[in-house]
Amino acid sequence: MAPMNNGTMKAVGVLPEKKEVALLQHPTPHITAPTEVKVRTLEVGICGTDREICTFAYGWPPTDSEYLVLGHEALGEVIEVGPRVTTFKPGDLVVPTVRRPCPHAHCISCRDGRQDFCFTGDFTERGINSVHGYMTEFFVEDEAYLNAVPPGLKDVAVLVEPLTVAEKALAQLWQVQRRLNWAPGNGDLPGAGKTAVVLGAGPVGILGAMALMVRGFRTWVYNRSPEPNPKADLVNSIGAKYVSFEKVPLAEFAKMTGPIDVVYEAVGVAKITFEVMKILGLNGAFIFTGIPPEKPAIPVEADTLMRRIVLMNQAIIGTVNADRTAFEDAIRDLGLFQRRWPDSLRKVISGRHPLENYREVLLGKATGIKQVFTIGG
Ligand code: BGC
Repeated sequence: MAPMNNGTMKAVGVLPEKKEVALLQHPTPHITAPTEVKVRTLEVGICGTDREICTFAYGWPPTDSEYLVLGHEALGEVIEVGPRVTTFKPGDLVVPTVRRPCPHAHCISCRDGRQDFCFTGDFTERGINSVHGYMTEFFVEDEAYLNAVPPGLKDVAVLVEPLTVAEKALAQLWQVQRRLNWAPGNGDLPGAGKTAVVLGAGPVGILGAMALMVRGFRTWVYNRSPEPNPKADLVNSIGAKYVSFEKVPLAEFAKMTGPIDVVYEAVGVAKITFEVMKILGLNGAFIFTGIPPEKPAIPVEADTLMRRIVLMNQAIIGTVNADRTAFEDAIRDLGLFQRRWPDSLRKVISGRHPLENYREVLLGKATGIKQVFTIGG
């Protein structure tokens, strides 16, 4: 798709002051620094965060703009590189990271390239917080924030960003469980002999289940919808076990799974999440990834949970965003998933849409697993 003659291109964005979601004309970006790369956007995934931004409950435009261009799950193709770019050349496929560091000298995380652990909260996020995103035809980015993708992954690489959630979670899981003798035996996968429960069967849950499966965990996916349904079929097709919490109550589910070593929460609903916390096993880890919208308070068996967390040495971890390593791990794992389950992986992407259909895709009822905008290519 060529840029418009007047130096603008199509973009989908929100105008929070006007409470509008719109197809906009946005200035076509140019390389302005020697280490920058110009990228043609090929695909952008849509997630719960985008849909929430479209309700104006979250998301902030850049200070000099009345709108925010949406989109943080992107795949693109390099079309031009600045004179000091060393890693990329035109034609390369890239996936950009989301978060950019805060400006403060004392933020050791941001100064160390770990803005996913920013201490000040003054970070920015493309398509979410104070920087335009990728739901547009072209973007320019410093090469430091781009990750190379092998051409063979082109069909599925838009899933890299949602998979980074699991990758960062697992990196932390290994660190926390170094407190235990969790080291695999010779030749064993790190999850061998261990049980993981994934809560939720959206894209983050399903990709998380795949990441747990390739590491050898016995993996259960506990999700609302009763089977048969396409998510259950997909989960079962990778060798994980799908169970509906509408059909199978918690106590029964706990009998099925036996002691649970890890819960990977990807449902974003507090009620079922705190229920499931009651069945986490001894020395287990519970990883929160969902970001529920603010809702009225609900009762939680806080004393029971507190007793269990302490008496059972449980670790509770919240995780957001992802660092460069998580992106590299996601790209490697996506290749593994593609070799092991090519059909199932492809089915994670339920629909591809032109940007012009933004209303239906972003504001309509959420359907399928991962919906994607196809933009250039
Ligand atoms: C994105 C993260 C981001 C988080 C909070 C998620 O949807 O994937 O990169 O940090 O939202 O804004």
